[in-house]
Amino acid sequence: MKRKVIIVGAGVSGINAAVHLAKAGIEVQLFEAKKNIGGRFFSFTDPTTGNIIDNGQHIFIGAYNNFFDLLRNLNTFNFVKAQSNFEINYFDDKGSAKLATNLSSGKLPLALALLTFRKLDFKSKVSIIKMILKIHKIHIPAEISCQDFLFQNGQTNLAIKYFWEPLILATLNQSVEKSPASLFVEVIKIMFKSVHNAKIYFSTVPLIRLLEPVDDFLKTYNSDIYTNTEIVKLDVSKKIITNCIDKMGDIFSADAFILALPFDRLAKIFNNSGINDDFKSFFNFSPIISFYFWSKSKIDCSEINAMIGTKSHWLFNLSEISNAVNPKYYLYTITISNALEMNNMSHSEISQMIIDELTYLGLISKSTDIIHSRLIFDKKATVSIDINNFDKRLPIETAYDNLFICGDWVNTSLPATLESAALSGRLAAEKVINYFKSS
Ligand SMILES: Cc1cc2nc3c(=O)[nH]c(=O)nc-3n(C[C@H](O)[C@H](O)[C@H](O)COP(=O)(O)OP(=O)(O)OC[C@H]3O[C@@H](n4cnc5c(N)ncnc54)[C@H](O)[C@@H]3O)c2cc1C
Repeated sequence: MKRKVIIVGAGVSGINAAVHLAKAGIEVQLFEAKKNIGGRFFSFTDPTTGNIIDNGQHIFIGAYNNFFDLLRNLNTFNFVKAQSNFEINYFDDKGSAKLATNLSSGKLPLALALLTFRKLDFKSKVSIIKMILKIHKIHIPAEISCQDFLFQNGQTNLAIKYFWEPLILATLNQSVEKSPASLFVEVIKIMFKSVHNAKIYFSTVPLIRLLEPVDDFLKTYNSDIYTNTEIVKLDVSKKIITNCIDKMGDIFSADAFILALPFDRLAKIFNNSGINDDFKSFFNFSPIISFYFWSKSKIDCSEINAMIGTKSHWLFNLSEISNAVNPKYYLYTITISNALEMNNMSHSEISQMIIDELTYLGLISKSTDIIHSRLIFDKKATVSIDINNFDKRLPIETAYDNLFICGDWVNTSLPATLESAALSGRLAAEKVINYFKSS
């Protein structure tokens, strides 16, 4: 019997669930509230320069198996490029130094990179290498923060400031003091398992182009995407969902449902449908600020640059990374993770702060070099996972036999990233297939 599944939310998690189900021969209807797909992974045209920019710099690592499989399914993996050599340039008030190695040579590339890294003393380098080597054997007591964990495992202040903190901010979008050590250790285990896993990848095209082919892909499998369709409620009968209803009052029925939504949007639909939404009280959002700036002058920096001792965390050189930049300018973007403390600052205050920091670190000589800039403050960039709520992430199954959830924030044991989103989408699709087999 032909089965139909409704998926609500066309971000990476919902799209991956749709792709897996369609490939399994199951008809999918994918509903998206906005006029565009992609969710928090999207691009738009900057009206002043005509450049297509993203909602924030996204980087991937070699361990993103599920996300990369999605791109392979959509034939867009060739738009993603790996850094040829592992290289991060660190800028502080004393100048710059590279953490770099040729990944194709040497048995212990990270150790080699660390040994030649000028920002760390010998003791700090050894402490990092030792911890990575014994990471599989370290016991983590429940509810311990990364800060306590790192000190307990002999990490120096310097090692934390230059090595661990930038990594924690980038992967967990959370402070060292609040990040749960168990989640971070998972990341380290995965990242440093192999050279392949630790490789850094970028999109060479606007992000949305990586997902765009999904429309045609689904059509070839007798499935479809419906944009501008906001689902507001589910009809519940005993332990089964029978229909979902959109904002216009239209009713859609299916044999199973996947809600691929951030926690607040899921809670809203649950609340409207008389389903318990208590989980929402455990979670908050962690903001990310992205500051794109077009410059007349070239900045002497690498593709990826860590900024140390400033509120700005990362500087990405988009003129090097992307093929989509207008060659008339140099385009860069700054990322500030876990930007909660800037919630009450205006856009112009934040922009000025970033420009001052770029000048302070000697990255730009004068603010007039900047022809144009654009600040994006995403207050709901990711869920904020900390030591108090890391075990409250919801599972993919719900109390309803034919209702499943996915999204970067559900319990995948990974931080709320693209890989967590893609993995949760695949797992939700597999649960639906198993449900159909058993019912
Ligand atoms: C600035 C920024 C930088 C980031 N950098 C990185 C990075 O470098 N690496 C990394 O791995 N991750 C990064 N992330 C995180 C990554 O973007 C997310 O983990 C991922 O996109 C989440 O996908 P999702 O499908 O779980 O959720 P979403 O993308 O939020 O998708 C949910 C979708 O559901 C739709 N929706 C909501 N309500 C309804 C409704 N009622 N009916 C129908 N549709 C609805 C929404 O419009 C949306 O399209 C970053 C995020 C941001 C914001």
